[in-house]
Amino acid sequence: SAPGVQGHAAPHWREGFAGLGPAFYTRLRPTPLPSPTLIAASEPARQLLDWSRDWLESPDALELLAGNAVPAGSEPLATVYSGHQFGVWAGQLGDGRAILLGETDSGFEVQLKGAGRTPYSRMGDGRAVLRSSIREFLCSEAMHALGIPTTRALALVGSPAPVARETVETAAVVTRVAPSFIRFGHFEHFAGRGQHEELRQLADFVIDRFYPGCRSDTRFGGNAYASLLNAVSERTAALMAQWQAVGFCHGVMNTDNMSILGLTIDYGPFQFLDGFDPGHICNHSDSQGRYAYNAQPNVAYWNLFCLAQALMPLIGEEELALAALQSYREVFPLRFEAAMLAKLGLAQPVAGDAALLEALLRVMAAERIDWTIFWRRFAHYRAGGPADPLDELFVDRTSWRHWLSAFERRPTGADAAAAVATLRANPRFVLRNHLGQQAIEAAQTGDFSGVHTLLGLLEAPFDEHPGMDAYADFPPDWASAIEISCSS
Ligand code: AMP
Ligand code: MG
Ligand code: MG
Repeated sequence: SAPGVQGHAAPHWREGFAGLGPAFYTRLRPTPLPSPTLIAASEPARQLLDWSRDWLESPDALELLAGNAVPAGSEPLATVYSGHQFGVWAGQLGDGRAILLGETDSGFEVQLKGAGRTPYSRMGDGRAVLRSSIREFLCSEAMHALGIPTTRALALVGSPAPVARETVETAAVVTRVAPSFIRFGHFEHFAGRGQHEELRQLADFVIDRFYPGCRSDTRFGGNAYASLLNAVSERTAALMAQWQAVGFCHGVMNTDNMSILGLTIDYGPFQFLDGFDPGHICNHSDSQGRYAYNAQPNVAYWNLFCLAQALMPLIGEEELALAALQSYREVFPLRFEAAMLAKLGLAQPVAGDAALLEALLRVMAAERIDWTIFWRRFAHYRAGGPADPLDELFVDRTSWRHWLSAFERRPTGADAAAAVATLRANPRFVLRNHLGQQAIEAAQTGDFSGVHTLLGLLEAPFDEHPGMDAYADFPPDWASAIEISCSS
């Protein structure tokens, strides 16, 4: 059951998503990529698949990861979905540049992003540039190491093949790994076309594979599809709480970028907050700020509402769907408060915590205090360090000191362990835009050492990594001028 562990054996494939039938996808082969090189690979992702390191580093594997050879037993395909983009129904979209090789014995699907045109490419070229592929590769693995559900990235392959964006760049392929890449938009697709049999087939597949408890759930009148909506709402609420707590801005929360498993999916113009600006917009194409940092929790609810509408033919009664969605409203605040209390090094909530937290966020927002640095210094303070490094962050120390004394007056119980654990709730390293940018610029000249260095730090973001202070420092002035759009 461990294919390829000995020597160079190729991986095994099983049917998985393809068993749904041709209404759900188009079979096709990846478009070959000239002169590929393996730029980076993730060891933890490799272990997920149970593929041997020898094999992964073999020429056979490189051909597979580049889309130049289809492995025996794999029948690649591109899936069809639709979605709401920036609040507007966009109709049919689909995997325009991602090709699913299939599901391996490990239960994970393997997908090549940037592997060429598909019937769903519309005006696109089916390719992804090195720049955005580095960002997706690193951030997928970084999010996982932060404990945040996400699609994974096994490998990053580069090629000299030119790809035209604002300028001519070069092509790359990220091998993505997840139990499933099914999005809200897959459901919207079949609902939108009135294909209720396919809609039911898809929902049954997702329930049987990923949410089997829905079958025996007696809430929601015993309606398994309402139970599914409820389960997805709760997972999404938990995900949003984690995004907000770590300061992650997704940038393009269209319904086709929402995972039915509550995973972070589709890394485009994402950003980790530098200075704390609640209304921060990371996507240069999002002029209205629909997907601003502080809008994310409500947008997720809006997206879940779209999913609910898509599931209505299966759920039947509107009250059931509304009851199923309601849990988002309850779970998100609870999860967010729990995540923030963990960042504060507090084990048990007490009355007044919400107000205390809100007051802190106000003080931080007033001075655009660096999100990651503040929390890491706070963790050291909670672990017994001095308050000076925190004080130094503020110009208006009166407001800050006022908050800190209110915090110190809060009953904390005898939980010294929670205080020490604060260092595991507040990462020292996140993939800031300027760090990614530096690694990208070096990579564009053929030097991949920056990608490897970042991968090493981001795979263990809570560790100190002595000597790597520069990667945990404030962003340089030029960081705020980096413009990341949907162009990728
Ligand atoms: P995104 O904004 O990344 O969620 O992409 C929206 C849609 O556009 C999806 O259906 C993608 O597959 C498709 N798409 C994005 N970039 C390309 C590209 N370069 N070639 C083909 N399709 C693309
Ligand atoms: Mg997308
Ligand atoms: Mg994208």
